[in-house]
Amino acid sequence: MKIFCIGRNYADHAAELKNPLPSKPIVFMKPPTALLLDNKPFYHPEFSNDIHYELEVVLKIQKNGKQIQPAFASEYYEEIGLGIDFTARDLQDELKQKGHPWEIAKAFDHSAVLSSFFPLSEYDKNNIHFVLKVNDEVRQDGYTKDLIFSFDHLICYVSKYFTLQKGDLIYTGTPAGVGKINIGDRLEAFLEGQKVLDFRIK
Ligand code: ZN
Repeated sequence: MKIFCIGRNYADHAAELKNPLPSKPIVFMKPPTALLLDNKPFYHPEFSNDIHYELEVVLKIQKNGKQIQPAFASEYYEEIGLGIDFTARDLQDELKQKGHPWEIAKAFDHSAVLSSFFPLSEYDKNNIHFVLKVNDEVRQDGYTKDLIFSFDHLICYVSKYFTLQKGDLIYTGTPAGVGKINIGDRLEAFLEGQKVLDFRIK
C-alpha cells in the first residue's frame, strides 16, 4: 500500500509559504508506518520544534491502473476522507535549502492522520468543503474548487510514474492556514459539516 501526497496544490497555501505556483503536481510519498488511524493521539516527536498540521482531502484508490487516461481517471476513486499531512517545517526548510530529499520532515511515524472513508457520490467533488479546528478555533477552511490540479489530473499524473493499486491513498494538498501544533491541542476536522477527525496532541 502506497501513500502519495501532493504539495502546493492550493494557491493560497503556496503563497503563505512564499513558494511559487507549480506547473506540474509536486508528488512525494509516505510509508504505511506513517498512518495514524481511529482518532488515536499524536505523540509529538522530539526531533522537531515546529510540526505543522495540513488538512487535506484524501482519495482512496479502488482499482489497479497505470498510465491512466483523463477519460477514465474518475473510475479509480469512489471514496474520500480527510487526512492530516503532519510536516516538520523546521526540518523541511533546512532540507529544501540544501536541495535534499525531505522524507524525514514528511514521512515520519504517524505523520499521516486518516479519517474513515465516505462515498464520493454523496458530494460534489468539484466543491467539497472541509474545515480544521484547533482548540475549537477554525484554522483551515478549504474548498476543492480551489485545487490547482484536480483529482482526475492527479490520478493521471501519479499513474504515469507509479502503478496505482487498490487501497493506495492520495493526499491531495492543503489550503492556507497551516500552523504549528502544541502538546495538549485538540484537532477536529469536518467534511461538509460532518466531524470525521477528533484527536489530541500528546
Ligand atoms: Zn500536505
